[in-house]
Amino acid sequence: APAKLDLKQHIRHVPDFPKPGILFYDISTLLAHAGAWHEALDRLAAALAPYQPDLLVGIESRGFLVAAPLADRLGTGFVMIRKRGKLPGEVIRHAYDLEYGEDVIEIQAEAVQPGQRVVVLDDLLATGGTMAAAVTLLEKVGAEVAAIGCLIELTFLKGRERLRVPVHALLAYD
Ligand code: 5GP
Repeated sequence: APAKLDLKQHIRHVPDFPKPGILFYDISTLLAHAGAWHEALDRLAAALAPYQPDLLVGIESRGFLVAAPLADRLGTGFVMIRKRGKLPGEVIRHAYDLEYGEDVIEIQAEAVQPGQRVVVLDDLLATGGTMAAAVTLLEKVGAEVAAIGCLIELTFLKGRERLRVPVHALLAYD
């Protein structure tokens, strides 16, 4: 059997981005490598399929890159959660506090029917603030959030403790 791919070798670490002192985990290198990206999607698909979602939801913008191909593999539709003002038609929004100020995320009012099972995806889980806001927004529209998936979890930030939903991370850093 072929050796198991070490997907961490395909994550680039960029010091001092976007600000001094921040270590940024860059998924571009994973996306750019056909074999590694295929394997990453295979593994996430296997972890999330048991939740039998009706829809996969991606969080702008790198969450789209994960959720859209996974939705195709799992045979589900794909829905976007976007920043304020990007989605046409009637939207439902949720405002949440940041360190300085607030952020607003939106979903189209018709995108999820009450009671539909969804799995939410992003590229990376850090403090969990973004994901917690997405879960709250989805609950507002009546979705049943079955699970959360991400490529990378920064476990030392304990983001999953803010989420009352099972979290599946492909790669964990502590
Ligand atoms: P949180 O809200 O969990 O603190 O931050 C997670 C959000 O910030 C995600 O939407 C993610 O895209 C972005 N993010 C924060 N740090 C990084 C990082 O080091 N690499 C990448 N790719 N995204 C990050």
